[in-house]
Amino acid sequence: MRVDVVTIFPGMVEPVLAQSLLGKARERGLIDVQVHDLRRWADPPHRQVDDYAYGGGPGMLMKPEPIVRAVEELRTEASWTVLLSPQAQPLTQPAVRRLAERQHLILVCGRYEGVDDRVRDLVIDEEISIGDYIVAGGEVPALVLIEATSRLIPGVVGCGDSVRDESHAAGLLEYPQYTRPEEFRGRRVPATLLSGDHGRVADWRRAHALRRTLDRRPDLLSEPDLTEAQRRLLAEFDSGGQDDTSEQPPRPSSGRDDEASA
Ligand code: SAM
Repeated sequence: MRVDVVTIFPGMVEPVLAQSLLGKARERGLIDVQVHDLRRWADPPHRQVDDYAYGGGPGMLMKPEPIVRAVEELRTEASWTVLLSPQAQPLTQPAVRRLAERQHLILVCGRYEGVDDRVRDLVIDEEISIGDYIVAGGEVPALVLIEATSRLIPGVVGCGDSVRDESHAAGLLEYPQYTRPEEFRGRRVPATLLSGDHGRVADWRRAHALRRTLDRRPDLLSEPDLTEAQRRLLAEFDSGGQDDTSEQPPRPSSGRDDEASA
């Protein structure tokens, strides 16, 4: 997969791409990400990329010419051009999967009050939002998109199973997970996970993934949508048949509601 990022702040994007999984994936040639300074396509001598909005109003808008020139130079038959924009549907894992199948993404990062609207008609195939809030520019949203899509490219994440089992991969949140020590500050790892019985562990995880999803994100999965097998697992879990984490001593209060409920 190739990704071209068009931004007025390449220095914000490059260092992140050099780190961790993304850095390694680039080194190994699994993903080719190029970051371009939009000013390269702006008119000399000042290389201005913004201007006042017709009709007045606060702030500046990104001019159409540099963005359209940049996309026209970078795109090929295989390209899919995305404008990072808070005016789109928020990104979801199914959308990430769909984008990860593209051979070539061109990501256009807005700044200021956004972009001249003609850019959308002329060169944008799709707009993507990272959520219903506003950040200062498209650079962080572009990085979110690159990281989320690149994790799905075979070989980028060391263990393919972790991508298959994780939250949102199959419409559920992931089950609770634990590492050593077995007991920490009076809280024990659930006995099933220590049993070495792979079948019981798998049932425990399925039941906890269901319970967690219904408790925290009922919008992802409603009780009426459950299959018969899922209902049985949940019923067993809810009747105490699966050892759970609720038998733990109460959590010490931090005095902050948001943390206490997190
Ligand atoms: N005035 C614009 C509006 O109300 O829709 C917001 C402009 S925002 C300050 C500047 C740029 O940041 C946008 O053009 C976009 O590229 C990016 N941006 C801001 N929030 C975003 C979000 N939630 N998702 C994706 N991009 C976002």
